[in-house]
Amino acid sequence: EPDPTLRPEPQPGDMDRALRPQALEEFIGQAEARANLRVFIESARRRGEAMDHTLFYGPPGLGKTTLAQIMARELGVSFRMTSGPVLAKAGDLAAILTNLEARDVLFIDEIHRLNPAVEEVLYPAMEDYELDLVIGEGPAARTVRIELQPFTLVGATTRLGLLTTPLRDRFGIPTRLQFYTVQELNEIVTRSARLLGAPATPDGAMEIARRARGTPRIAGRLLRRVVDFAVVEGDGKVTREIADNALRRLGVDSLGLDGADRRYLTLIAENYGGGPVGIETIAAALSESRDALEEVIEPYLLQQGLVQRTPRGRMLARKGWQHLGLEAPKREGQ
Ligand code: ADP
Repeated sequence: EPDPTLRPEPQPGDMDRALRPQALEEFIGQAEARANLRVFIESARRRGEAMDHTLFYGPPGLGKTTLAQIMARELGVSFRMTSGPVLAKAGDLAAILTNLEARDVLFIDEIHRLNPAVEEVLYPAMEDYELDLVIGEGPAARTVRIELQPFTLVGATTRLGLLTTPLRDRFGIPTRLQFYTVQELNEIVTRSARLLGAPATPDGAMEIARRARGTPRIAGRLLRRVVDFAVVEGDGKVTREIADNALRRLGVDSLGLDGADRRYLTLIAENYGGGPVGIETIAAALSESRDALEEVIEPYLLQQGLVQRTPRGRMLARKGWQHLGLEAPKREGQ
């Protein structure tokens, strides 16, 4: 079972709230997305209109929810939150939509997992702020149209490719979130350590930043664990030595990879000669779901150039062999 500390999805008991930036000004990284949002928010405010529907996509833990909350705060409106899998029936969404006030932000997480009947309700709501509800059943059924307040839908997804085209097309502001640079994570860790009352030395913060897989949520989790070690085994300060020692004990290696990442790489190297090997085969061999591999494990390995995606399957890249400390087999033509 992988250590939940190392996974980028939200976990029960997360104390993310204290560390969440509250304003666009405080939000570190994603410079391009931030600069654009600043303009769109300001324009909506000056015109007194609902901001256009916004879609955030990218791997878990990069700040999609945080940015949606910031948008609502900066627009001066209420924030309502739900998620694709929670909305079982059209009526569930209708109830939420009819309770929105003018210009409110409705955040739907995992929007690629909406049930089609619910998604149908969303189209006219997004386009014309209208709801077509079917009342009754059989020959007595009739449709009533309900006018909604203008609102902003903010969708978040880790899997842009799983969104239907009509839904995708209704977002005026599609925004891709990127993995953070080490320097950006360093700033985030330094700020968070201060907020947690356990100041980090510059090289202490850097050690965590380098091993956080480009992901603020992971940086926050690792920081909390390092702070535990700093309190119990040090003098409460996050130093490089304490951080390195704690991360090693958590099974986080020099690149920030954990046991699950290394099992994935080792499988391709040792069982499939470096690939190419199909994703379904890897999923079966690791007893992981294909979705989990594609959403959680692979994005960072691909971004780091440890693996490559080819039409015939996944291949271990040179850097992947090096990281495992293994010799890549000689191939024809090389
Ligand atoms: P997502 O919705 O993409 O999964 P979240 O918005 O929930 O990610 O962010 C995960 C955690 O990372 C939050 O606790 C938040 O405090 C932190 N976080 C995300 N982006 C930033 C950032 N730019 N600066 C500081 N902390 C951040």
